[in-house]
Amino acid sequence: MLPYGRQSIDAADVEAVVAALGSDWLTTGPRVARFEADIEAVAGAPAVTVTNGTTALHAAYAAAGVGRGDEVITTPMTFVATASGAAMLGAEVIFADIEEDTANLDPAAVDAVVTTRTKVITAVDYAGVPADYDRLRKITDSAGAILVGDAAHSIGSTYRGRPVGTLADLTTFSFFPTKNLTTGEGGAVVSTRPELIERLRDFRTVGSVRDPERLRRTDEGGWYYEVQEFGLNYRLPDVLCALGSAQLRRLGDFKARRARLTARYDELLADVPGLRLPARRPDVDPIRHLYPVRVLDGRRREVYDRLRAAGIGVQVNYIPVYWHPVFEDLGYRRGMCPVAEAFYAEELSLPLFYDLSDSDQDRVVDTLRGILGS
Ligand SMILES: *Cc1c(COP(=O)(O)O)cnc(C)c1O
Repeated sequence: MLPYGRQSIDAADVEAVVAALGSDWLTTGPRVARFEADIEAVAGAPAVTVTNGTTALHAAYAAAGVGRGDEVITTPMTFVATASGAAMLGAEVIFADIEEDTANLDPAAVDAVVTTRTKVITAVDYAGVPADYDRLRKITDSAGAILVGDAAHSIGSTYRGRPVGTLADLTTFSFFPTKNLTTGEGGAVVSTRPELIERLRDFRTVGSVRDPERLRRTDEGGWYYEVQEFGLNYRLPDVLCALGSAQLRRLGDFKARRARLTARYDELLADVPGLRLPARRPDVDPIRHLYPVRVLDGRRREVYDRLRAAGIGVQVNYIPVYWHPVFEDLGYRRGMCPVAEAFYAEELSLPLFYDLSDSDQDRVVDTLRGILGS
């Protein structure tokens, strides 16, 4: 089965991991800080590595101080973790609808549901295309809230010349194998605000504080540290950070190949009937994480089944988050975000990854053309 996404591991990646395995530090060592510095070089703001993209969101919400009584506004067109991290901290998640073309959070829809209880607004850079951060920033600031960017798809993208990582107060990344770069499991949060970076580090390290300046008691001895707030062990080990640094060196190549494959799909699929190709925006330079087409005329399920039967591993991104029973049980109902539901009904992600060959891509196109009949 041709996958819809997969990792690319080269000899330098393997060498970096082997070197880490032979070093003194499997975890909590120097490769963690190195990977965090490498992320900062791409994302334009300091980074804290964590165990995956889901825990990155949990840590970001914890750092933002999300808790009971707070509202967190986000998009339903995302992986469930964008919402569940806030819900698990006791917040009420408010879903706002998406823009029809990009499938990103619609600032106008956010504006309509902001209240005095809005603590965080979380955008998702769907398929790698940054959300409309300038408009979201205005709404966030006037609400006195914190802007979070779930950038699991978009490390290396820019918006109006600014890198993803500098657009929100807190930006989260995932390094799962289907994403733009991988550490197996892994993630990071970057922030432009030093006080949030400090809170992220504390939370990621079981809440422990060692900095003498921050200790409440200083007369205990050299072994002494304090837990001042509860946290979790979300540390990413050196072995995986080594892979992350090696992968980040290839990010430019990854982005270029994904752009090339996207341009080929755009060209080869342009005249296929019953298909709508993904939107482009003039003010962003995205890394293309997904190639999300829309299958018209109610044929998405048929096209999905027939492509899978032909050995082509297409995917649907995403089931609207509030459709999951865990949200249904809380009273969320289908129909809440009609634009997102209409998008979901037609969406199909075609294979897109660095090592996808032109001939495999041609096979995807030909099979799709055969099904849709042209
Ligand atoms: C993958 C993904 C996550 C979760 O990342 P994991 O590393 O798989 O935990 C969160 N949000 C979005 C939009 C994602 O695509």
